[in-house]
Parts: sequence; C-alpha cells; structure tokens
Amino acid sequence: MRSVVIEQPGRLALQTRALPQPAAGEVRVKVKFAGICGSDVHIYHGHNPFARYPRVIGHEFFGLVDALGEGVDPARLGERVSVDPVVSCGHCYPCSVGRPNVCTSLQVIGVHRDGGFSDYACVPARNAYPVPAAISDRHAAMIEPFTIAANITAHLQPRPDDIALIYGAGPMGLTVIQTLKGVYGVKQVWVVDRIAERLEMARANGADEVFNNAEAALPQALQQRGVQPTLIVDAACHPAILPEAIALASPAARIGIMGFSGDACTLTQQSITSKELSIFSSRLNSARFPQVIAWMADGKLDPQRLLTHCVPAGDVERAMQMFERDQRTCCKVLLQFE
Ligand SMILES: [Zn+2]
Ligand SMILES: [Zn+2]
Repeated sequence: MRSVVIEQPGRLALQTRALPQPAAGEVRVKVKFAGICGSDVHIYHGHNPFARYPRVIGHEFFGLVDALGEGVDPARLGERVSVDPVVSCGHCYPCSVGRPNVCTSLQVIGVHRDGGFSDYACVPARNAYPVPAAISDRHAAMIEPFTIAANITAHLQPRPDDIALIYGAGPMGLTVIQTLKGVYGVKQVWVVDRIAERLEMARANGADEVFNNAEAALPQALQQRGVQPTLIVDAACHPAILPEAIALASPAARIGIMGFSGDACTLTQQSITSKELSIFSSRLNSARFPQVIAWMADGKLDPQRLLTHCVPAGDVERAMQMFERDQRTCCKVLLQFE
C-alpha cells in the first residue's frame, strides 16, 4: 500500500509499505478521502512538538472497514466510517470527567501514531464512527474539522442573541461560523481576516459581517459601529489576538482560544476581571463525532462550502504546498485514495 510519510522534518515521501493487520480491538480502514490540515503542514515542517518521525500523517479521514481485529463485532465489516483521531486511556482524571482530548496519555492518530494519509490505516474500533448514507464520502472526511468547532462552541454555549466575533476565516474559522449559525442560530456573526478571498468564503459560510484588518483597525471599526462582541473565537491563533479580544469584549463575554503558539502575550488581570470575562481553551475534540454526524446528516452543517480542492493522493506534496501557500483560493483540500 502507499503511505504518505514524513520521514523527518522537511522530507515527505510516498512510501510503499506492507498492508497492516488490525490488532485486537482494532479495525482496518480502507481510506477513501483524507483532509489536509494546518497541523499536517506543521508536522511536515517539524513545528509540532508532539510528532515523532517517521510518521504517516493525516487525522481527518473516511473509508470502509475492510478487516477486523480480534473481539470486534463482525457486523462492522464493510461499514462506512469516519475516524476520531483522539485515542485516550479511559481512566485518567481528564478521561473520567469526559475530556479524553486531554488524556494524560493522549495519542493522536496522524501525530503520535500513524494516520490516514495511507491506502489503509488500523485504528481502535471505537474511534471508527459509522457514517449514515445522508453524508457523502467526501463530506464524511470533513467531520473531524467540524468536531473542533463543536468542541469550542460546547465550552462557549452560544445563544441566538450573542454578538459573535471570529478571528480567522481559514478552515477552523469557517467551521465555527457554520456551527454558530446552523446549530446555535446566532444572529450576528462577525468575521475578521486579512485576506479578501477568505472573507468572501466566510460570507459563503454564513458570516453576517466581515472585516478586513489588513485595511483598517478592527477595534476602531467596532467602536464606530457600537459593537461589543459577547462571544469571541480566536481561530487565527496568533498570540496578539487574545489581548485585543479581551479589550474588545463586552462585559460578561466568553472568549475561546485554540492556538498552540509558544510565544508570550501580555495580559492584565484587570482587563479580564473588570469585565468578568470567561476564557476557554479547546484542543481537538472530546467525543464530538456522534453530535457532528447528526448535525451534518440533518443539514445543519454543509462541508461543501469550505471544500475547494480534491486531488489524487499521489499529488500530496503539491497539494500540501498549495494548501500552505495559496490561501486565496484554497481552503479545505482532500486527498483521494484508491
Ligand atoms: Zn485537523
Ligand atoms: Zn486518559
């Protein structure tokens, strides 16, 4: 089988590997579609502190169950499945409080262990979620990015009367917009980005107002309009954003962050406490697959609106370069296996 392997930082190879056999409790998935994510690019460049090399990347993928390990229900053979990349122990403190995404022995498929950019991948059977016929193969490969949005919005508890502000109209920002609009019915969603084409995509994904902060400063613009966001999501993940978000937020607002930068930013207690702001962080997803699958099957989310490219898996290097460099035309890129 072919596997996309990051052999070491900066070196990607399409390797031929032996067909893997599922261990006890695992299923083997014949991968059909897999999505490229910013974190795949980070592993490629050696910017992910958790990655170990060589590594088969890819944590957003869909396929068919084609072999079963010992103890797996035989009825699962042939099932259409989308794979939750979060592998957790089930008994540590975070697992015991329903937070497997920060399990003390967390293993992320495609980061800590081999992932879905491969003709076949073996994964724990409980991580392979059945996908109903209402969701197409391509869209099923995009369930994982929507679980990121499902996770942060579960922390933020959006209300229809919130004034939401999303930083960043990349794939993460767009899934958050769709979740706020389609699931929670938030009436006012503002989106800020520095790229005009991305702001157009934000509109296509449901944003009510868009703002280009490469052209003008956001704080002044919001002030002029008399807008104080009550719910803010940083999906751009730059360390300068949190201080700005704290300054812009309405009293009693909630702020969600998802970035992984190691760079410092400066905050004061006063700026947070004087408005009694709530700041939530969100990493990966905590068992949100069933919820997102239901939302998608009900038509509350539409993956097609952020899907811009689908390329043969053999063109993975070109696809990753395009994903990284061509942010004007490129949003979610799928690799097609088989
Ligand atoms: Zn991802
Ligand atoms: Zn655990």
